[in-house]
Amino acid sequence: MAGRWGFLTTPRVSRPRRPVPERLTDWREVYDGRPLLPVVSAQAGRCMDCGIPFCHSACPLGNLIPEWNLLVEADDWAAASERLHATNNFPEFTGRLCPAPCEDGCVVAIDADPVTIKDVEVAIADQAWREDRVRPVRPGRSTGRSVAVVGSGPAGLAAAQQLVRAGHAVDVYERDDRAGGLLRYGIPDFKMDKSHLDRRLGQLTAEGVRFHTDAEVGVRPAADEVAAGHDAVVVAIGATAWRELPVPGRELAGVHQAMEYLPQANRVSRGEWSSPPVTARGKHVVIVGGGDTAADCLGTALRQRAASVVQLDIRPHPGHHRSPDEPWPTYPHVYRASPAHEEGRALARERGTRGDAGTGGLPLPATDEDVRVFSASTVRFEGDASGHVRALRLADSEPASRLPVPGTERTIPAQLVLLALGFTGPPPDAELLGQLGLRLDARGTIARDPGFGTARPAVFVAGDAGRGQSLIVWAIAEGRSAAAAVDRYLMGTTDLPAPVTATDRPIAV
Ligand SMILES: Cc1cc2nc3c(=O)[nH]c(=O)nc-3n(C[C@H](O)[C@H](O)[C@H](O)COP(=O)(O)OP(=O)(O)OC[C@H]3O[C@@H](n4cnc5c(N)ncnc54)[C@H](O)[C@@H]3O)c2cc1C
Ligand code: SF4
Repeated sequence: MAGRWGFLTTPRVSRPRRPVPERLTDWREVYDGRPLLPVVSAQAGRCMDCGIPFCHSACPLGNLIPEWNLLVEADDWAAASERLHATNNFPEFTGRLCPAPCEDGCVVAIDADPVTIKDVEVAIADQAWREDRVRPVRPGRSTGRSVAVVGSGPAGLAAAQQLVRAGHAVDVYERDDRAGGLLRYGIPDFKMDKSHLDRRLGQLTAEGVRFHTDAEVGVRPAADEVAAGHDAVVVAIGATAWRELPVPGRELAGVHQAMEYLPQANRVSRGEWSSPPVTARGKHVVIVGGGDTAADCLGTALRQRAASVVQLDIRPHPGHHRSPDEPWPTYPHVYRASPAHEEGRALARERGTRGDAGTGGLPLPATDEDVRVFSASTVRFEGDASGHVRALRLADSEPASRLPVPGTERTIPAQLVLLALGFTGPPPDAELLGQLGLRLDARGTIARDPGFGTARPAVFVAGDAGRGQSLIVWAIAEGRSAAAAVDRYLMGTTDLPAPVTATDRPIAV
């Protein structure tokens, strides 16, 4: 049995991060690179091995968390890796990037700090790579069937790996010059170094997956051609249609969408470009939005040496504790500070000693301790004589309607504005949709049935393209489930696991 009393005797200790001043000088992962093993073994021993592990159901992959906690506590890293990989194709991705809804569902979290599940997960995955245990898994037979996977984000990669291991021939088509989806050009290196992605792509290639990059299905090659050349198609093209902020001044130079900005910084940090066309260097930066994308813009702008950064979130401050209407084990809306916010805190402190130099006389706004302004509604952008943004007019937002509260308007300096307002679904004009006869539903995502199928036989949809903007753990779970649906369609039966249906939702109220 797992160390059932560890939670009473051992305090929670999270994975250590490098000091903020050090990490702001480079693009390397924020985490201290030292192996975590002794610390993690003790942390795994905090698992109470409860009778009904709610962490299982809070994790979309159904990760067998108490089982690997028990194995880690016993220092059996090989068996822990086997149990972890039984449900998760890419645990080093989720162990770095997942917001860990499992920890909010941990039974220990009812009245104490939850087990550091995510840290245990990443330690098992990294140790498995370190000990050369992660090898290509080659299928024992070939089915003679072939599948095209369109899109190489976590959903497409998970689907491809499951299908190739089931004995199908798999071609992955990716419109970008390199595979990986948002893991490659959205998420910055300081959250996950791309070597983890490249290592997995190497594993998939060795397992027999064929990657075709610079291949936008619907343009070149045509979608019908791809469909005709395969027995089934998995569409995993993500949700890249971004939300707009249609306020006066949106057209000014210096107002950009986050996904126009982040991929450039990613290419620079990987040495592909020498400098980004859009940079925060020396500028007063305002980020509009409150999610992961906004936090990634914050960490990037700080590393580019912005003069100041402010993040505007239209939602009210969520508070530090669960509200009674979001009871355990749901994933609650509470104040969460990412490593980028921790870095923002350092900038805010520095600003206190530096004053408001270079703001053109406009005061920097009062922010919380890590550069966020909550309940902030953008009214308009103001430009200079050359048509470049110089300021942002904001107001308090009314909690229910989110409309500006009259009489609360003020102007703050803004020489670079980054819009991180989320994504609605795939671009409605994507050629592939019309060519495959797919349609978008009322939510803006590709219409599909609970089993990932579409109106066109043999065409399936996985990941953000069908679910809408979500998380890597959901994308992997969808890729696995869509692969099971494809395998059943092709073979009449399947042994592949299907952790979620297309209509499953997170445990929330
Ligand atoms: C900036 C940012 C940061 C994020 N941070 C986190 C995080 O920290 N943790 C987390 O859990 N989630 C995070 N997310 C969300 C997460 O990245 C997504 O939910 C996840 O990547 C979705 O996976 P996917 O495979 O469905 O789509 P994507 O990763 O978007 O991949 C889709 C791929 O399809 C390709 N494609 C599109 N059209 C075509 C076509 N016609 N032909 C060929 N290829 C095509 C695209 O180029 C892309 O490579 C973040 C999202 C963003 C934007
Ligand atoms: S994938 Fe996410 S939810 Fe699942 S165990 Fe890992 S951190 Fe928790």
